[in-house]
Amino acid sequence: MTKGLVVAIDGTAGSGKSTTAKKAAEALGFFYLDTGAMYRAITWKIINAKIDLCDTNSIKKLVAQTKIDITKDNRIMLDNKDMAEEIRKPEIDKLVSQVSVLPIVRQKMVSEQHRIAKGRNVICEGRDIGSVVFPNANLKIYLDCDLEERTTRREKELKEKGIKVTRKAIKENFLERDYIDSTREHSPLRKTDDAVFLDTTNLTIEEEVKIVTDMISDRLLNKIDANPTAENLTTAEERL
Ligand code: C5P
Repeated sequence: MTKGLVVAIDGTAGSGKSTTAKKAAEALGFFYLDTGAMYRAITWKIINAKIDLCDTNSIKKLVAQTKIDITKDNRIMLDNKDMAEEIRKPEIDKLVSQVSVLPIVRQKMVSEQHRIAKGRNVICEGRDIGSVVFPNANLKIYLDCDLEERTTRREKELKEKGIKVTRKAIKENFLERDYIDSTREHSPLRKTDDAVFLDTTNLTIEEEVKIVTDMISDRLLNKIDANPTAENLTTAEERL
């Protein structure tokens, strides 16, 4: 299979993007690029350095000195440290959207996302993937889900991890992040005209993954022209 296929998945907080993108990537042998994890990791670093979000110079310096990567097995590395646990904590949920507003942070993340995706087939998931990071993505999907259902799913996920947060706090955090993410000046969350819309409210994870995996297979991997000629009767792999 030729490398360089990009599937962009954007959507609201907790709409099922991460689980769906991860499982579909596993099923199809694509690299899963979780851009939210990158914004969460830099947020952790800013919090730990006790830098005020208005202190642009200090943030600029900190960002320039930051090494961020995602390993082949999807571990988020910040300055060579695995951040998987830290970035899912409620204090990161609270601040991440405010950090993600900053152009200096976004520039660095987008350039790292391009570097990480280069030469690979990727399913890249976030808020600005189809609009800004990969505007020429081979397939764009936009996910949304009813707020109550998103809250129920996140409540269950956090409970399983032993993290105590009230239902009210989860819901408020989703609302606040969606508001900041979709109204910010740079790279706001939005559905591009060419994105396929998928409402996940009444879908199980398995159904969601199947729909997305089938969509990628049908549209990108098994493309068969209506009028096959000797040339286009080659296998999908040769053609890509
Ligand atoms: O996807 P996740 O919910 O982990 O993302 C956390 C936050 O990171 C989002 O609420 C948003 O503020 C920011 N983000 C972003 N652009 C992306 C991915 C995430 O601004 N491409």
